[in-house]
Amino acid sequence: MAKKQKIKKKPVKKHLKKTAKAKKVKIRNAKSKTISVASVNQNKRTIDSKKLLSLEEAEKYIYEAGGENGLKIFKYLIEKDVVEEGQLARKLGVEKINTIRKDLYKLFSKGLVAYIRKKRGKKAWYTYYWFANSDILILALKQEYQDEIDQINKAVDLNKVEEYYICPICNRVYDAKTALENDFKCSNCGNILTHIDTEKVLETKLERIRELEKKIAFLDKFVHKSRPPSVKNTR
Ligand SMILES: [Zn+2]
Repeated sequence: MAKKQKIKKKPVKKHLKKTAKAKKVKIRNAKSKTISVASVNQNKRTIDSKKLLSLEEAEKYIYEAGGENGLKIFKYLIEKDVVEEGQLARKLGVEKINTIRKDLYKLFSKGLVAYIRKKRGKKAWYTYYWFANSDILILALKQEYQDEIDQINKAVDLNKVEEYYICPICNRVYDAKTALENDFKCSNCGNILTHIDTEKVLETKLERIRELEKKIAFLDKFVHKSRPPSVKNTR
């Protein structure tokens, strides 16, 4: 707690100035924003990755973006914080750097990973350091849950005003007005209609909303824990 307060007290502008001066390291992400970050003395970003990925929707989301390899990469990055591209390939048993790049770019296009590039010594080329962008995953999942809540709410409103009857033989559904007109008999087979228990339907839906709200609250716990990554000065 005391640590957190100490960080907050730092004036932002001063911090950024110092940062840019210290080392020109750039973070690039899919939204093509470029941010300068300090290359030294930053806290390791602490996210309980196992907890975050315990949501079945989290794994599903990453899988849909980057397939099985993408999921492996994301899991590795979220645990190791920042990993150099070649090292990442070796650790995951990928022979060609281009193969891992292809998978990284799938995740990158969805904003799930980002990189820092850095010149090492006097070499002409850049070294790429990748990290998982867990905030993007959290935001996407929250949106998914909220969309489902909105959809359910629409449906629940309908259930509050409508009453339905069903034929237990041929499963035809009648609204209350039609059922009354038909003397509560099925116009197809003549069987007596049964009232559909909308209360039960409503309860099931409210239960799902409560479940989704819990998931959103669960995700909120992660948001302030993530910090920009750091790369130690290699020169
Ligand atoms: Zn019927």
